Formats: sequence, C-alpha cells, structure tokens
Amino acid sequence: MDKKQIWNIVLSELELLISKANFKTWLQNTYILSLENEGKKVIVGVPNSFAKSWLENKYHKYILEALRGATEEKVKEVVYKINADSNKKGHSSNNIAPRPQKKKTEESEGASANNHGLNPRYTFENFVVGEGSELAYAACQAVCDNAGKKYNPLFIYGGVGLGKTHLLQAVGHSILKKSPKSKLFYTNAEKFTNDFITAIGNGTMEKFKKFYRQLKVFLIDDIQFMTGKDRTQEEFFHTFNALYQEERQIIIASDRPPKEIPALQDRLTSRLTWGLIADIAPPGLETRIAILKAKCEEKEYPLSEEILGYLATHIQSNVRELEGALNKLIAYQEFHQQQELDLETVKNILSTLNNSKNKTGFVHPRQLMEVVANFYGLELSDMISSSRKKEFVLPRQITMYLMREENKASFPFIGKELGKRDHTTAMHACEKIKKAIDKDPKLKKEIDLIKERLYN
Ligand code: ADP
Ligand code: MG
Repeated sequence: MDKKQIWNIVLSELELLISKANFKTWLQNTYILSLENEGKKVIVGVPNSFAKSWLENKYHKYILEALRGATEEKVKEVVYKINADSNKKGHSSNNIAPRPQKKKTEESEGASANNHGLNPRYTFENFVVGEGSELAYAACQAVCDNAGKKYNPLFIYGGVGLGKTHLLQAVGHSILKKSPKSKLFYTNAEKFTNDFITAIGNGTMEKFKKFYRQLKVFLIDDIQFMTGKDRTQEEFFHTFNALYQEERQIIIASDRPPKEIPALQDRLTSRLTWGLIADIAPPGLETRIAILKAKCEEKEYPLSEEILGYLATHIQSNVRELEGALNKLIAYQEFHQQQELDLETVKNILSTLNNSKNKTGFVHPRQLMEVVANFYGLELSDMISSSRKKEFVLPRQITMYLMREENKASFPFIGKELGKRDHTTAMHACEKIKKAIDKDPKLKKEIDLIKERLYN
C-alpha cells in the first residue's frame, strides 16, 4: 500500500469520528508527506499551523490509531509538518488558513458554512421531489416568493433523513440569492437553547433578543428538542410573536406534528399550527433511484443501473441512509482502487450496514454513540476521549446505560467501546443513570427522545 492509500483509509476512519465541518476544516488538505524508518514514522503534511496544532492536540490519538489499523500496527510515531506548498500540489482547494472554531455547538448540519447558518449543499437544485415531499417542497417554494405573507408559520414535519433540513436551508439559499442582504437565519432548537442559556449566563439577553427579533426570515429546525425546556420555549414564544406580528417569515421543522411534541406548552403548540403544516413521507422506489442518480452526479461517481436498483430496493428507510451507503461504496472503491464494483461486492460491502440495524432493539454501538453525541451537540471523539469534562460525562454515561439496556452488552465491552474505560466505570454509570431516571423526569424524557432517534 502506498502513502496515498494509507492516508485514504485514515481519512475515511476519521470522517466517521468527527463532524463534517471539522473534517473539512482540519483534514481536507492533509496527506502523508513521507514514511520514514521503515514505515514506523509517518510525516503528515498540513497546510498551516492551525491545522498542525489542531491535529496534534485534538485528533492525534485517532490518527495514530487509524494509521496503525491501516498498516498492521506498524506505525509508531506521527509527526505533523507544515508544508507551505501543499496547496500547489493539488491537495488543497483554498489558501485561507482556517480559524479554530470557538466552540463545538456552533456547528450543526454544517452550520459554520456562513453567517446565515446554511450549508451550501442544501439547495432546491439538489433536492429531488417525490410524491412524499411534493407538498412540503411546493410550500417552501411559495414562501420564497411571498415571505411572511403566504404560509406563516410554515411547519414541516417528517421522519429522520427525509430532507427537512435540506428544504429549510434551500429556502434560505433561494431568498438570499434574490436579496443577499436579507436578514435570514437558520438554527435548530438545540442551538437556540444553548445560545439562550449562554446569553443568560453572560448577561447578554438584550443582544440575544435583538438578534432574533430583527430577522426577516427565521428558519428553526428540530423544534421537538425544545421539549421540556420551559424557559427556552418561553423565549421562543416571544420571539415568534414579535416576528409574526411584523409578518416576518418563520419556518419550523420537526420530526412530528406540533400536537405530538411532548411537553410543548399549549400556547406554543397552537402558534405552530397557525399557518400551513406540511409533512414529508419517505420516498418511493422511483424517487429513491432518482435521488441516488442525483447524488452520483453531484459526487461525480457513476454507478450502474443494476447497483442503483439494488441500493434503492434494499435501503428504504430514508435518504440519509441511502447517501451513507453510497458514500461507503465510494470509499471502498477509492480505497481498493477498483475500476468498477460488481453487484456481489456491493452486497458484501453493504451487508455490514444492514446488520447494524435490525429492529429487535440492538443498535450498533457506534451508531448509538453517534446518536447520543449528536443529541447533546458533541462529537464522537468527545464520547471516547479521556476528558472528564462535565458536559461529556453525562452523555457518556447515558450511552453506557443504553448499551446495557438496549444491547445487553457486557460491562467490559461497554467500558472498552467508550474510550477503553474500566468495566467498573461502566457499571457505575449504568447504575447511576438507572437511579437518576426515576428522580429526574427531564432526564427520562431526554433518554426517551434519544431512544426514539435510535429506532426511527
Ligand atoms: P432531515 O432533516 O429530514 O433529517 P436532511 O435534510 O438532513 O434530513 O437529509 C438527509 C440527507 O439526505 C441530506 O444529505 C439531504 O441532502 C439528503 N436528502 C434528503 N431528501 C432528499 C431529496 N429529496 N433529494 C435529495 N437529497 C435529499
Ligand atoms: Mg434535520
């Protein structure tokens, strides 16, 4: 295996461990400069000092682990070296040194992409309309031409991975294209909550209020996560009223209709139903094939009709999974440098994917960790890191508890999965959460929501 192949494996491992935005920022322009000392020492070229210190301090452990995995444990040492001309070698797409991000909660669904919180990939052009998404799509388009006047609020709901976030952000892009100065902002309920809590802590509530109340278009995603957060709901309620009275457009997305969101204050539920409620249903077979074709084109990665058909027939749950399967095939092919995949290989590659999700209550440990991390705005690497920061500890313990309850995993296994911890740590965590659930309804609700996400 040459250095490029080795690095490709490392990147595909890390891609699973850290958020998209972080991956892009810190790893996009990296590669192996050289292998020294019979391959025991790896020199990694990085474009600038930010990336160097970030990789050294934050991702080193994972990089080393992935390198060892890719080289039959040969690698002993990794050195990061700033390579000024890395850009010229075609390893990079821009010269601008990325700035370290202030805090993790600032990036959700690629929200660091620009100051409106939008991910550039999520546009109407990239969205394939199917029978299940027609109404939501049409409503979103209508809103672009008539912001604040036609459907206000517009409430979109549907299961995970069906394109809610995509549509919400597509509205954002479309409006900004027409009026680039439009005061428009995309966020989600988790981030809104975090920002609200931060504003209280810092005594900057006025600023917080002002920011949201001057918006012309407010896109708020995953509103179900406001469940049980009374003060945040209160604040959102007032923001909503202020915007609504001024005919500012509000679009809300959720995984279920307003009335089914537990512990949402009645007056807020009622507000949410004032405008148009549009649902998104899972795409049918034809649409799934069309979506796959579009994604293949976007990624410049052609696949045969046969393989597309296979994917679309076997992955029915949602578009995110379809896309995940496609990414997996691409990674495999790039890694093995195969010309073309045949159906047998595809089946093999995807069998692991399917196994991780049978509906009997077993959830793949990594997926479980991901869901919990995501729920609390953390990264997978935080879950397995050795840090005992308060904001990491609870999610970690909840993961342990769920591995035990849902998967009946052994304590040593649980400890090992969560950053090579001792089995007594896992035992303690499970007991603690079990007891806490009885006393703390908020925690119970959170865990219920996580479970829903797991099995959705
Ligand atoms: P949700 O917010 O409903 O959970 P997302 O909007 O995040 O789902 O969609 C998950 C992934 O699937 C995204 O990469 C999105 O671009 C893609 N996707 C979903 N629906 C469609 C569609 N109809 N056409 C193209 N891509 C889609
Ligand atoms: Mg979403």
